[in-house]
Amino acid sequence: MSECLFCKIAAKEIPAAVVYEDDAILAFKDIFPQAPVHLLVIPKEHCAGLGDMTPRITAAVGRIPQVAVRLAEEAGVLEAGWRLLTNCGPDSGQSVFHLHFHLLGGKPLGGKLC
Ligand code: IMP
Repeated sequence: MSECLFCKIAAKEIPAAVVYEDDAILAFKDIFPQAPVHLLVIPKEHCAGLGDMTPRITAAVGRIPQVAVRLAEEAGVLEAGWRLLTNCGPDSGQSVFHLHFHLLGGKPLGGKLC
């Protein structure tokens, strides 16, 4: 997916503030943070969204909660509370069509989901 922004970040063709990387997962700081801690956790392999996961991507995505816990701990928000979410499709406001999970924390995030 040569035109995909997050594929380019995963391929290091576009710079990002990377905070975690392994063979299948990358995490980096959101360029327009909505909270003091705002990271994006992605499978490196292209996948538009949750409805498009192959078995290999499913395996990678299955490890993301564990990676997120580690990142939340490193960011100092593990105990205070944090949120991990993904947007799917137009009504959710998804703007980048490479599956990604927002890790948010560092302030009260509000009790409402929408
Ligand atoms: P979405 O709206 O759920 O698709 O989230 C996309 C996120 O990507 C937004 O929070 C953007 O701020 C973020 N974003 C867009 N371009 C970049 C970039 O180049 N680096 C890091 N984050 C980005």
